[in-house]
Amino acid sequence: MNYYSLNKKAPNTTFKNAVIKGLAPDKGLYFPETITPLSKSFFDNIDNLSNTEIAFQAIKQFVSPEIPETVLRTIVEETLAFDFPVVKLNDHISTLELFHGPTMAFKDVGARFMARCLGYFNQDNNEEVTVLVATSGDTGGAVANGFLGVKGVNVVILYPSGKVSDIQEKQLTTLGQNIKALEVNGTFDDCQAMVKTAFLDESLTNKMQLTSANSINVARWLPQLFYFMFAYKQLHDKYEDIVFSVPSGNFGNICAGMMAQQLGLPIKNFVASNNANNVVTRYLISQLYEPKPSVQTISNAMDVGAPSNFIRIQEIYKNSFETLKHNLSSYSFSDDETRAAMLEIYSKYNYVADPHGAVGYLGCKSYLNEKPNSHCVFLETAHPAKFLDVVEDVIKEEQPLPEQIQSVMGKEKESTVISTYDDLKAFLLKFE
Ligand SMILES: *Cc1c(COP(=O)(O)O)cnc(C)c1O
Repeated sequence: MNYYSLNKKAPNTTFKNAVIKGLAPDKGLYFPETITPLSKSFFDNIDNLSNTEIAFQAIKQFVSPEIPETVLRTIVEETLAFDFPVVKLNDHISTLELFHGPTMAFKDVGARFMARCLGYFNQDNNEEVTVLVATSGDTGGAVANGFLGVKGVNVVILYPSGKVSDIQEKQLTTLGQNIKALEVNGTFDDCQAMVKTAFLDESLTNKMQLTSANSINVARWLPQLFYFMFAYKQLHDKYEDIVFSVPSGNFGNICAGMMAQQLGLPIKNFVASNNANNVVTRYLISQLYEPKPSVQTISNAMDVGAPSNFIRIQEIYKNSFETLKHNLSSYSFSDDETRAAMLEIYSKYNYVADPHGAVGYLGCKSYLNEKPNSHCVFLETAHPAKFLDVVEDVIKEEQPLPEQIQSVMGKEKESTVISTYDDLKAFLLKFE
């Protein structure tokens, strides 16, 4: 499969090159040249297919011929080595739990897939690739874990000092080997600005191959389409009109769901559930796209003022506002509403949701007010124990720490403190 840049000012390129470069030379996001729907028999027969087989069939066209089928099968199998259960709350609402991976957030799937693709492309390459990523929380842990020990790949993670949770910090800073954590005296925006400066700094990029590992990278974005299919497999014989409510920040996850829909998955609608950072909710009402600086909320992985994947969503729906509006609903909720939802989910269904999942639940409720006959699945994007302070404060009950989290909490933190872009550059040039 070849990919084109959505800025339309760069040559089309292969999957391999798109993964290694991250962003096109004209700074556009890459998008596949064609999307060929899967056969009707694939969906008719989905009950008989394993998760690995579903994922293999679904992603094959996007990665071939550069990743041979036998290699792809192994990559997919290793990526998906945990469960993706759907839990029913009532006849109209279920949740798809995406937190059973090693860092207990949905980003594990994309990070593990991308790491294995990059590892494959790099196996006979003497030149190392440096993955540079800024994180406000979950991305860093998933990327660190996914890339641990991958030959020829160095990972450098920037995070804002004192602004990620203890658990998240431990997940970033305790792995060692090829994973380096930089603790930045500043905010997440400062981290992101430094990363952007690095990508544009030719005195650096002439000396080393830098790539990104957030959802702008096609290898992190596309595999997220798998779990919409896994949920469909679990629900299609019980419900007809299946709708997904996706707690959204950079809109990579929901956009991957839309790719599953383009592949033929019979999804009736998507709900983009937002916190106070609601540029898309406002756009669907006013048709005016007006990004704003992000504001801090209790669902902090969604604190994004200008979602980078929205441009891909517009491309999927051929830049037609009408088609987009036909497929996408969006609602936005305050922190107070989110807390109340967490309490409601707990008291009504004895289910503990994290703040992001709770925003998704509220999106389902708003959608069902308009279309009461649907079955809405909200994505539980992180385990509630990752947001322990908020969760325990709301439901007034202590939460057990899952084993994946306990095991990092006892380890020693290793990080390098930096303050300026020059500090970052000096650090990176040591790998040269
Ligand atoms: C990253 C993240 C999101 C937002 O996903 P996008 O793909 O950026 O829209 C939601 N919830 C959690 C827990 C996350 O880590």
